[in-house]
Amino acid sequence: MGEFDLIAQFFQRPAGQAVLGIGDDCALLQPAPGRQLAVSSDMLVAGRHFLPEVDPLTLGHKALAVNLSDLAACGARPVAFTLALALPEASAQWLEPFARGLFALADAHQCELIGGDTTRGPLNICITVLGDVPVVQGRSAALLRSGAKAGDDLYVSGTLGDARLALHCLHGREILPSAQLAAARVRLETPTPRVALGLALRGVASAAIDISDGLLGDLRHILRASGVGARLDTARALSLLGHGRNTADAALPQATRLACVLAGGDDYELAFTAPASARTAVEAAASRSDTAITRIGRIEAEPGLRLVDGQGQALPDSYASFDHFA
Ligand code: ADP
Ligand code: MG
Repeated sequence: MGEFDLIAQFFQRPAGQAVLGIGDDCALLQPAPGRQLAVSSDMLVAGRHFLPEVDPLTLGHKALAVNLSDLAACGARPVAFTLALALPEASAQWLEPFARGLFALADAHQCELIGGDTTRGPLNICITVLGDVPVVQGRSAALLRSGAKAGDDLYVSGTLGDARLALHCLHGREILPSAQLAAARVRLETPTPRVALGLALRGVASAAIDISDGLLGDLRHILRASGVGARLDTARALSLLGHGRNTADAALPQATRLACVLAGGDDYELAFTAPASARTAVEAAASRSDTAITRIGRIEAEPGLRLVDGQGQALPDSYASFDHFA
């Protein structure tokens, strides 16, 4: 199978919204009037972001999901994407399920593949996604990292920590009952980009980010960009752990649970802030997008991140400075 057969067989589909899709030197898009383009790229490298033997079906999903998650964080509506692919060999056995996983998610978000590049090389997947956001009264409606204000509430969507917990188990470092491991593994391999929530939070949230590297690390990006600090209730954060929760008391040390939730990464949930006066609007956005949210803290004027327990007592510095797994 040659390069062009490969593209035609697995990736070329009739153009949808695009003026011109795959097949020429450029694709052509016509931006809707009064809207801005939101653009983001994410690369997945075999051996670094995934094991080369991972199921290509879930890999196709995840490669696009991590990109859609960036659009979600900005409150952008997915429009189209490009796919740059380096492959060690042209294997239909690998390409067919990869394309199936990719297009299933793309179709669910009406996000069209409009081009890319294909080359031989170590397995590497780079997607660039394009979305759009309206301009309202001359101002972009995009959600940014820089809008958090002292007094705002701090929220997280969905669950946190399961992806890292699954990775730990797959590396033989923790043991979960098989049903729970299977559920946690779904979170690791087929994350759900919170696109609907991001759209619903436009005009409601003051700042947002998607959690790819871990809650604390990504939250710090909001704090730095906004010039503020935060107080985070670790007891509430712990309640975000999904699939390790039931067995947690018996089998999983508290430190492991906290580490997974605070610094796990790969969850692709949204962390966002909103004024306390907008609590009803935040709840409405969550239910409109059918996405669970949890309020886990508050933005403060004093820079830095302060972790407290359920009684409001400051946690020792070792937790406060916790960043990554040893
Ligand atoms: P060029 O050499 O002019 O850059 P290519 O020959 O690499 O173009 O690609 C031919 C067409 O196929 C282009 O429209 C390109 O966008 C598209 N394409 C190449 N690889 C992929 C891919 N992996 N997925 C989708 N479209 C692709
Ligand atoms: Mg090319």
